[in-house]
Amino acid sequence: MNIGICLDKSDFLYDIHSLVKSFFPDDDVSIYTDGDAEKCSTARDLLLCVNIPDYTDRKSAKDQLKRELYESLSELTGRTLPWGTLSGIRPTKIPMKMLEEGMSRGDIRDSIRETYLASDAKISLATDVAVNERRILENVPTGPDTYSLYLHVPFCPSICLYCTFSASPADAWQRYMDEYVDAVILEMERREMLGVLPDPSKEPVVCSARGRSPVTFYMGGGTPTALSPEQLDRLLTAAETYYDLGECLERTVEAGRPDSITEEKLEVLKKHRITRISVNPQTMNQKTLDLIGRRHTVEDTVRAFSLARRAGFDNINMDIILGLPGEELCDVENTLRQIESLGPDSLTVHSLAVKRASRLTKTLREEHMAGKIGDYSRYEGLSFHNSEAIIGAAYDAAYRMGMQPYYLYRQKNMKGGLENTGFAKRGCECLYNILIMEELQEIHAFGAGASTKVLSSGGRIDRIVNPKDVRTYLDRVAARR
Ligand code: SF4
Repeated sequence: MNIGICLDKSDFLYDIHSLVKSFFPDDDVSIYTDGDAEKCSTARDLLLCVNIPDYTDRKSAKDQLKRELYESLSELTGRTLPWGTLSGIRPTKIPMKMLEEGMSRGDIRDSIRETYLASDAKISLATDVAVNERRILENVPTGPDTYSLYLHVPFCPSICLYCTFSASPADAWQRYMDEYVDAVILEMERREMLGVLPDPSKEPVVCSARGRSPVTFYMGGGTPTALSPEQLDRLLTAAETYYDLGECLERTVEAGRPDSITEEKLEVLKKHRITRISVNPQTMNQKTLDLIGRRHTVEDTVRAFSLARRAGFDNINMDIILGLPGEELCDVENTLRQIESLGPDSLTVHSLAVKRASRLTKTLREEHMAGKIGDYSRYEGLSFHNSEAIIGAAYDAAYRMGMQPYYLYRQKNMKGGLENTGFAKRGCECLYNILIMEELQEIHAFGAGASTKVLSSGGRIDRIVNPKDVRTYLDRVAARR
């Protein structure tokens, strides 16, 4: 459907567009002001005209306008949205602020329900997350003088169809992996290189990390365990050489893909006192794994998890994705049953974003047209289904495993207007996830596509992003040798 929104003023453009898009995630939504009368009048399936009232209090006016628009759209579509008029990526900020002001849970619920029309279930979830986050952060150093260290490994055993992380296939990059490890090590050695890599014409940003220990250490990807045991060892040894990791409150390696995890690599991680790892199945249904190009089996996940337990890891996270192609509630229930029998210490529940789902459908169609897919029939008519019942089943499983929600974020155009939530047993939460989400400290990040965040004294956050393309990254580092 082609939807137009016509505004009489240019205020609240983004908020109005986001709200309409939440009701019509699969449709094209264009927004115009009165000045674009000609474009507005172009034939559309639906044209919404919104009058912005004069106001003195911008926030109240915006909230009021969004509520009125929400009621109209709800009547038009016969639907309500779990998060009401809230479209931001961190809805937990609202209950967090209210808790800090000393409001009771009851008052928080009434206020959010009245202002944003969110469901009681989502308000309760967001408030639980805020309460847990406050508890977890109580004794964690935060602020401009603190930072966490992040290393990025962009390689993966194969590229999942829905991937948006610009991962590089390990097979094709095998002969460059040593060079990559060297480059990340060199970046760590010369911390002043930060800011030089993205744009050689810019003055380098000198991070004042020397003499300070990172609060947390996180190696992510991609799939860090796509590296060989020797490469992992070199990278971790260098991190310990250039940074004092002794004071770190946690050391995470997002191992990720089960097919890349071996006993030898786990031994290397243990040797470097990694405290938390991820073994990410995404689904425990083989038909889905085959469809999304994960190229590993359900048994690989079980094997990798058992290996990690035997190696002594007592804090293992598992990631799942809801809304994968062709998966219905019964498929998700199967995944959850198998995960519960493994018993991880934390579970991160992701909802597939609509954009990713539609890009996936488009990519498949294009590949089929180009003759790259032999058997296209298995992709035809696939649906991407997520709902409150499906996400509710995942949350129930997390609660049954003794976990609590502790971080939550939303992405634009999430299927069913839902969210991504991290659950963990007490003491097994990932501090790094909270710190990066809430932007409570600097992140010093190395590797292709790694994003360093530097807090300025005025509280502003400057981002310095390394080139995503591995070759460009390697060339930039080589040019600085
Ligand atoms: S494992 Fe993650 S990073 Fe790697 S290809 Fe799949 S989605 Fe992308």
